[in-house]
Amino acid sequence: MSALSMNGNKKLKEIIMLLRHTPKEIKERKSLTVNPAKTCQPIGAMYAALGIHGCMPHSHGSQGCYAYHRSTLTRHYKEPVMAASSSFTEGASVFGGQSNLLQAINNIFTIYEPDIIAVHTTCLSETIGDDIPQILGKARADNKIPEGKFVIHANTPSYVGTHVTGFANMTKAMVDYFAISNGHKEPKINIIPGWVEPSDMHEIKRIAAELEAPIVMFPDTENILNGPQTGKYEMFPKGGVTIDELVSAGSSQGTIALGGLASGSSARALDSKCKVPCEILDLPIGIKATDRFVDTLRKMAGVNVPDTITTERGQLIDIVTDMQAYLYHKKVALVGDPDQLISLTEFLVSIDMMPIHILTGTKDKNFEKRIEKITADVPHEVNIASGKDMMLYHQWVKNDPVDLLMGNTYVKYIARDEDIPFIRFGFPILDRIGHSYFPIVCYRGGMRILEKILEALMDRIDRDSTEIAFDLVM
Ligand code: SF4
Repeated sequence: MSALSMNGNKKLKEIIMLLRHTPKEIKERKSLTVNPAKTCQPIGAMYAALGIHGCMPHSHGSQGCYAYHRSTLTRHYKEPVMAASSSFTEGASVFGGQSNLLQAINNIFTIYEPDIIAVHTTCLSETIGDDIPQILGKARADNKIPEGKFVIHANTPSYVGTHVTGFANMTKAMVDYFAISNGHKEPKINIIPGWVEPSDMHEIKRIAAELEAPIVMFPDTENILNGPQTGKYEMFPKGGVTIDELVSAGSSQGTIALGGLASGSSARALDSKCKVPCEILDLPIGIKATDRFVDTLRKMAGVNVPDTITTERGQLIDIVTDMQAYLYHKKVALVGDPDQLISLTEFLVSIDMMPIHILTGTKDKNFEKRIEKITADVPHEVNIASGKDMMLYHQWVKNDPVDLLMGNTYVKYIARDEDIPFIRFGFPILDRIGHSYFPIVCYRGGMRILEKILEALMDRIDRDSTEIAFDLVM
């Protein structure tokens, strides 16, 4: 090949690389984020609010924000996501959004008839300084909230926090507004599932049902964002935690909060408001975290673990044992949200894989310490960062390549440029389906994660093997 055509090929390869400007050399960046590994607070608040039955999420800000929040959820779930907006224009931006919100509350209850409106703020209304409790007090005084209907709120300024904190804030609002102790401890457990998929919420409820442990789950997006096609549009599908259940959460005998960042603040609020003791656990992703969840539920509810659950656990361990040769010391780069990554990293380390680049876009003071501890015995240098971006993640991968990438849809650009197998994991997943229907939590979810990992790694072996080494049986 001539020098000229070699140069031409190199140039062509550079042109088809989508992130070709990402340099290998890492320089400290203090005020520039490139390809953020996060989305904004109201998206999380909207997702949590959809987990209340008959709820209309309401974005107190401009229409641009709310369109972005709705479209991100719609693209991820492939379902229409209903929400309302205060529709700020220049006037509201200068004089405040009180009259917009009062008008919106009136319109929403009159036209759409939800049981509850869950208001979250945006950067703009937070910068103006709108006092939402005062506005809601005025709405009540002006009889804009019909008898038996409710309006709750969460402050979600997106110049601090991310979609995870937005989710946590709206979930805590459910406790602040509704949970009441009736003076007795009822024989049921609250489960705050954290930011997981509707399919994961179903799986957690299934495990609780197998243990015969009565639970209240909130929020609960099952059958709201993964409902069946019935041919009939329903603005408020049948799923979701009810207001009565949220009130009753104040009289439960205990709370299990899954994911410290997304669920911890609600569990602690419930404890201090209603004296419901709580255990804050990791998300039950992988064998060890699921063991801790099942054992805590067993103790708290005073029940036994049935053989069906022990069998599922055994099946998961059987897959790990059978396929150990394909997993052993494979290097993985992870990007996502703190709660998910803590459990996923523990799972990968427990099956002898090597997560060596682990980055979250959400700032979490516990994240780095937890990951350091979990990866302490990994026989390789490990990069860990919280509150950083995907450009740094990409640079880590360029400097120390891996066998597998795991992260949300945006990682596909890195996977293509670096030619590395990629598994979609976390939020948002905009270009595939499955996450709404098949869980990744608990033992069965662990099997699904393993299936995806093994498919990605073994497909690569098939793709790269010579004709002589191309095996039918692997
Ligand atoms: S302005 Fe703030 S709330 Fe609106 S989309 Fe942007 S980050 Fe989110």
